[in-house]
Amino acid sequence: MTDIPVIEGLFADDNDDIALLGSHCTGCGSDYFPEAVGCSDPDCTDGELRRCELPTTGSLYSYSWQNYQPPPLFALEQWKPYAIGTVELQPGLRVLARLDIPREELRIGLPVELGRDVMAKGGDGTISGYVFRQEGTS
Ligand SMILES: [Zn+2]
Repeated sequence: MTDIPVIEGLFADDNDDIALLGSHCTGCGSDYFPEAVGCSDPDCTDGELRRCELPTTGSLYSYSWQNYQPPPLFALEQWKPYAIGTVELQPGLRVLARLDIPREELRIGLPVELGRDVMAKGGDGTISGYVFRQEGTS
């Protein structure tokens, strides 16, 4: 069975660890997710972007509870209502992600960590993605 990422180049997954792939600007130090083609800082004139693995822990910046099933690309097997949120990985770097956190545990500032998500299983393999879980629960 093959492990197929939901989108190529979004994260690195070596079966032991998972990390989001972003860009780091060598000129101003800005980080981006997903990978960017150019630095967005208008004051940065000579930056070069390099692929980088982003921090795997952060804190919950905002969230929302989803009561409808996502479109086919993100069709989760065994769907049930879930949370989606913005996680701050470091100052100035926030990523949008599905949250594998019970509704009653959700709160702004909650320490979270990146984890692997099995989105669907089919004849060609497992479609994998990423989620954030409450730190220490994986
Ligand atoms: Zn820059």
